[in-house]
Amino acid sequence: HAQGEEPPGIAFFSADMTEQVQAKRTLEHDLRRTVGSEDFVVLYQPRFSAATQEPVAVEALVRWLHPGFGLLSPDRFIPLAEASGLIVPLGEWVLRRACATIAKWPDLVVSVNVSPVQFRQGEQLLETVRAALKDSGLPPERLELEITENVLLENTEKALDVLVGIKTLGVRLAMDDFGTGYSSLNYLRNFPFDRIKIDRRFVGDLEQSRDAQGIVEAIIGLGRALNLQVTAEGVETAGQFAWLRKAGCEELQGFHFARPMSEADLIALKPRTRAG
Ligand code: C2E
Ligand code: MG
Ligand code: MG
Ligand code: MG
Repeated sequence: HAQGEEPPGIAFFSADMTEQVQAKRTLEHDLRRTVGSEDFVVLYQPRFSAATQEPVAVEALVRWLHPGFGLLSPDRFIPLAEASGLIVPLGEWVLRRACATIAKWPDLVVSVNVSPVQFRQGEQLLETVRAALKDSGLPPERLELEITENVLLENTEKALDVLVGIKTLGVRLAMDDFGTGYSSLNYLRNFPFDRIKIDRRFVGDLEQSRDAQGIVEAIIGLGRALNLQVTAEGVETAGQFAWLRKAGCEELQGFHFARPMSEADLIALKPRTRAG
């Protein structure tokens, strides 16, 4: 084995790891107590039209305001919420909050991330989406659900039913983190997606790597051929923006344009969106 790695089969338990395990237990326990409470916030990261550079949509991204650990990013607690099943009530809370908030902004589209655990609930997920739309008054065409490609592998036929169910509600579908999973190109052809989001790993490498450029060009071409809209995630520099626009990418999201922002900060965004 390489230097620094543990020999296989030997559990090396350091004080550091004990602390980590302890912190994880605390988080799990706190999560159970606080899902749906005001300890969570939804931030909104705008997505921009490459042509007009105006915001056309926002993505809802959850944060946990933990009383002890401070502001936690989803990477710290979504995996715990998924393992415990708490992602189902948490995901419903995010969806309802996002729909209610964005219903107040004419013409803005909101996209909400859906965990594979929620997706596997099938009919229950559809019911939750239906109720969130009805209670918020958000028109279905202004809601988009972001799903990662790996959920399609598990039970392809059932996955197709759920996707068709979502489309039947009039809601849009995006494939998130495209290019990082294991799905076949055939899924893109046969499943009713409206959009693919190019994973930010490729976008981040655009200026240094011919390979990344080739991959991004191929994804944009795929989108065009299959009549899917293409969004590039994680655009951080003017150089990446210029390259992507030239390559024909229609929509851009990333720190170069805007970071995830609070509901209150959406006001600053509004004057640049075209109302009706
Ligand atoms: P994602 O859906 O792919 O979201 C994009 C992530 O990239 C967000 O991280 C966003 O803040 C970050 N990002 C955006 N632009 C840039 C950039 O220019 N540079 C860099 N370095 N990062 C950028 P965040 O908010 O920490 O979320 C991480 C992941 O957690 C999300 O990835 C999504 O998979 C998951 N997530 C977030 N909110 C929810 C939720 O409500 N439900 C579920 N199931 N998952 C969520
Ligand atoms: Mg996403
Ligand atoms: Mg993504
Ligand atoms: Mg992701």
